[in-house]
Amino acid sequence: MAQERTLSIIKPDAVAKNVIGDIYSRFEKGGLRIVAARMLHLSRDQAEGFYAVHQERPFFRDLVDFMISGPVMVQVLEGDDAIRRHRDIMGATNPKEAAPGTIRADFATSIDENAVHGSDGPDTAKTEIAFFFDDSAICPRTR
Ligand code: UDP
Repeated sequence: MAQERTLSIIKPDAVAKNVIGDIYSRFEKGGLRIVAARMLHLSRDQAEGFYAVHQERPFFRDLVDFMISGPVMVQVLEGDDAIRRHRDIMGATNPKEAAPGTIRADFATSIDENAVHGSDGPDTAKTEIAFFFDDSAICPRTR
């Protein structure tokens, strides 16, 4: 399987629960390498831009309010089949449907406050990575 990159966000609910380290450990144990990372508090404009694809959905306003309610931790993950692998580690969008041992099963409160974001395909991954990181901010492993 090809090496891929995907964008991960640890959302404000999970940052508030102080489980960044636990979530990073799941990425690493799952075969993903963190090749870029930054913590930031999204502005309303940034959150609306990032989730623009959902702007017509009924939950859009609440989603944006939630995403700006505290800092987020954003990272680029790299590895074999990284997009699918990362989504498997995250679990289903609705934590009630998330498999045991996934991040969302363990840390999400509801479908609205569901701990993490992950790109859902190669095109989205490219766009989402570029939303947060210049190429020069990404550090592929050389050893
Ligand atoms: N979301 C929500 N209510 C819903 C569906 C989705 O608040 O009924 C939020 C939730 O935070 C989710 C995000 O919108 O993670 C994006 O939804 P998507 O269906 O793309 O799920 P994901 O790719 O995050 O699993």
